[in-house]
Order: sequence, then C-alpha cells, then structure tokens
Amino acid sequence: MAITNQNIIYLDNNASTAVDDRVIESMLPIFKSNFGNAGSDHAFGWEANEVVDIARERIGDLLNCKPSEFLFTSGATEAANIGILGFCKANKAKGKHLITVRTEHKAILEPVKALEKEGFTITYLNVDDCGMIDLQELDTAITDQTILVAIMLANNETGLIHPIDAIERIVHDKGSALFCDITQAVGKIKVDLDILNIDLAVFSAHKMHGPKGCGALYMNRKNKLKLNSIFYGGGQEKGLRPGTLNVPAIVGFGTAAYFAKAELKDNIDKMLALRKILEANLEEIEGIIIHAKNNKRLPNTVNFAVLNIDGGKLLRRLNKIAVSRGSACNANTVEPSHVLTAMGFSNDTALASFRVSLSKETTSSDIEFAILNIKEAIYSLQKMTA
Ligand code: PLP
Repeated sequence: MAITNQNIIYLDNNASTAVDDRVIESMLPIFKSNFGNAGSDHAFGWEANEVVDIARERIGDLLNCKPSEFLFTSGATEAANIGILGFCKANKAKGKHLITVRTEHKAILEPVKALEKEGFTITYLNVDDCGMIDLQELDTAITDQTILVAIMLANNETGLIHPIDAIERIVHDKGSALFCDITQAVGKIKVDLDILNIDLAVFSAHKMHGPKGCGALYMNRKNKLKLNSIFYGGGQEKGLRPGTLNVPAIVGFGTAAYFAKAELKDNIDKMLALRKILEANLEEIEGIIIHAKNNKRLPNTVNFAVLNIDGGKLLRRLNKIAVSRGSACNANTVEPSHVLTAMGFSNDTALASFRVSLSKETTSSDIEFAILNIKEAIYSLQKMTA
C-alpha cells in the first residue's frame, strides 16, 4: 500500500510511522468501553490495569526484558529526561562527569546540556566521516568521575548502528553506567536487552507503527540503578512518571510490539530489498555520496548527499516524496544537520543531504516513483549548473 497524502509518497518513517490498522483496532475499545483509570480499585480500573499488563508483556517479549523493567512515558524524549536527569541527580556523589556523542538526538543532548549548566562536566565524543565513534577515545575518556555514558544504538539520520556490545564492555569495565537511545532500532533490527546489558534505554511507539504520545524508559533490574524522580504526583510508574496512564496508547504500543516481533524478519528482508534498489539507482547519479554506506546500518535508512548542488533548490524539486533533510528548520533559518557536520561534512553538503526512510508499508512502486523524482530533480539542477 502506497502511503500518500495528495499523491506524495511518504518516505520519512524515521520521523514517524503510520499507525498499523491492527494497532488502531486494538485501541478503539479502550476509548469506547474500557476507559477506566488503571489506578482505580474497581472493575473498570482492574480491566484497564489488565490491558496495560498485557502491553507490558508484549513489549518485554519484543525486547527480551521483564515487564517490570520499564515504565511508560509520553515518548522517548520524556523517557530520556527521566532517565538521564534522574540517574545523574541520584548518583552525583560518585562523580559529575558524563560522556556522550556529538551525533546523539536532541532528546539526549539537551538534558545533558541542562546538567552541564548544573555543574556536570560533559565529554562529547567525536565521530569519523561515517558517524562512528573511536572505542579507544571512549575508553580513555572514562574517568573515576564518569557516572554515565550515553550512546545511541542506531542513528536517526544515517541509520548507523553503534557496536553497543563492545561499548557496554568498556563502560562497565570502568565502573560507569550506559544509557542507550534505542528509539530507531526497535522494530527495525533485533534488540535483545538481556544480551545488550545496557543500564538505561529509551524508545517510542510512534517509530514502530504505534501511536504518538507513548514511549518507555527501560531500567536494567540486574544493575540495581538509583534514580531520583524529576516529577512529582501520584505514585504511578515507580513514582518516576506519575500521572494517569495513557491506557489506549499503551495498548496500541503493546500491539505494535507484538507485530514488530512476529513480523521482524519479513519486514527487514522487505526493507533491505527495496533499499538495495534505491541505493543502486542513487549510485548511478554523479556526485552522490551515501552516508555510512559500508557500515552496519538500519535496513530502512538511506541518507545521501549530492555534491555541488544547492540543497534548498533540490528540496523544492523533491516535491513528490516526503523525505527529510535532517535539519532543524524554523521560519527564517535552516540549520545544517548537527549529525552530518559532526561527521566532517561542510554546511553546504549537509544542507544537500536527504534522508529517505522506508517502513514495512513501503512498496516497490513507491521506490520506483521516488527514484524517478530524485533523478529528475538532480539531473535538472545539474543541467542548469553545467
Ligand atoms: N531519539 C531518537 C533517535 C529519535 O529519532 C527520536 C524521534 O525523533 C527521539 C529520540 C524522540 O522521540 P519522541 O518523539 O518519542 O520523543
């Protein structure tokens, strides 16, 4: 099924995904009849609590963790704030040094920046031109004051996958804790939290065909973590995320997790096959760079730059597909992507870089259509500048 809005093909699935029909179906009864508060001590409340527990089981099943190891939040951003700020406030007597990477999502960089203002020292690891950190640099950066290292599993702009197994060994050998943003990886690659042995992780329903406004913070039970609450209210979600649970969204999240697990292999194969066709066609174009092409990447993500072309003009010509420039925009300015500039690309190249992100719903005709639009757009601009 082509996902279209006014005949525009949707290829921005790392920004958000369409909600799976089966997810919507599972949520509808919760709005209509099972609308009780999961905290209420009567039949409506018990029923709400029961469906929340089923969702917890399903998410735990997808990620191979216990249902009691995560709490529900409004998304990955909120989960990251609760996890990073809560952990650092609870453990600051041990040290006030944090390590993260220049290419992390703003959901991680901004809470880290807030801690810097409160007197924490931050080391920002550099990356190479593929977005990969240097493990030796990480090892050297960890001191006896380092309480937390925050490194994402898969990058939202390039799809690059970090070697979290090796990172985990380094971080734990040095006695620090590992926070990992797994938002883009869940549902696109196998994520086994038991094997990964991360301390804290965050993820979000709307990146995996679930509803918006629902995410989770995972806390590894084996590593006995201490977190201070940054919110105050009722005691929901271990007191760390107080407030009435968003039961319909949580149920949708659980359904999305169920199908993500059941269909993971098929979805990966399908997205990889389409990505291969897209990349083979892109490589026929002169001046194209596919970022992190030879690295381990998410099966759905292609981020390409076109050299010697005005990114703004190209964006206006890519008017038949919804893709992302990986840049923060406001009314007057367009910022080059902090990920691509950290990888050493110039502002111009970053602004002429486009992320195409597929989903399980992307079809081969969507990709053919996208290839036509991209080729026509680039060739016409190249002809004008020749
Ligand atoms: N982390 C990554 C890697 C993301 O791609 C996103 C979403 O753009 C987030 C965190 C934030 O997720 P949410 O929209 O659930 O707050």
